Amino acid sequence: MAKLLEIAQLGNPILRQVARPVENINAPSIQKLIDFLMSTVSSANGVGIAAPQVSQSYRLFIVASRPNSRYPNAPLMKPLVIINPKITGHSEEMVKGWEGCLSIPGIRGLVPRYRTIEVEYLSVDGTLHRQEFTDFVARIFQHELDHLNGIVFVDRLETTLDMFTEQEYQKLNK
Ligand code: ZN
Repeated sequence: MAKLLEIAQLGNPILRQVARPVENINAPSIQKLIDFLMSTVSSANGVGIAAPQVSQSYRLFIVASRPNSRYPNAPLMKPLVIINPKITGHSEEMVKGWEGCLSIPGIRGLVPRYRTIEVEYLSVDGTLHRQEFTDFVARIFQHELDHLNGIVFVDRLETTLDMFTEQEYQKLNK
């Protein structure tokens, strides 16, 4: 749990900054940051984490969907390191779904997101990837990309009626 304390919490100005692109993926500081994000996301039962959440304002995040105590129905995937991402296209359709955030503990919200997105990003070896993501993984991607632009999920709620405490959210999903 000690690592959780190192996650920037809502109100910390770092979460409201526009993060800067990663210029040298091979820099030891960036490789260390990637390792730290990987271990933090798994120890915190997250499905994603962005560099600004550990107070490093870079355009870099991890998407790591897997079932865990915070997201029992999350699909299982190999964690992806996403560097300098861009959304290049998206579905018309938006869907509302539950989100939480390691930087906003105790709060859940029903957030509208594009169902499908087309993206470009660099992977950890510097290769350019073009890929399509759908549903929950697309949701994580959009949530984490928002962190790189100083946006958090509660900013995206259509109404505060879509905001629940963790306790009430857990009751719904019993
Ligand atoms: Zn978040």
